[in-house]
Amino acid sequence: MNNFLMDVYLGLGTNMGNKRKNLLTAAALLAERAGDVLAISSFYETEPWGFRSKNTFLNAALFLQTEFSPVELLDLTQGIEKDLGRTEKSDGTYKDRTIDIDILLYGNAIIRKERLVIPHPLMQVRRFVMEPLAEIAPFVIHPVLGKSMKDMLENLNNDEHEQK
Ligand code: AMP
Repeated sequence: MNNFLMDVYLGLGTNMGNKRKNLLTAAALLAERAGDVLAISSFYETEPWGFRSKNTFLNAALFLQTEFSPVELLDLTQGIEKDLGRTEKSDGTYKDRTIDIDILLYGNAIIRKERLVIPHPLMQVRRFVMEPLAEIAPFVIHPVLGKSMKDMLENLNNDEHEQK
């Protein structure tokens, strides 16, 4: 535990069962175990990324103020994933999941440990992360890229446009 509050942004995703319920249950458990949940984005329906599945995802971003350290928070979020019934990845591939919780930003911290990389290394290329995050944190600055979430989402939109 730190003795001060850190501003943390989490990315939530689910593609199994009652998806709205999964997101809301995860948010409730985060509020119970990890700190104050001060904002939740709209829920975005998105296509699976990195694997094939007939189940679409529901994604959201959440703003949390916590006293827990980054690794303590990861233990907590992984505990919630387990409690909500997420099956372990056995072969390193992506699978359907009840809930996936990613730590996107932890204040301005830059962490590169084996278990934990913050800012989340793929956030800027994932629309399903950036769209909800830019909704609740448009002017928050990425500590490595030095860009706001709003600008990062716009860059992603422009890149996608150019690819077409
Ligand atoms: P995923 O299946 O995408 O949820 O990946 C889970 C794995 O990513 C776990 O083994 C975590 O230790 C690791 N990991 C590394 N950085 C992060 C992060 N910023 N947030 C959540 N999990 C992370």
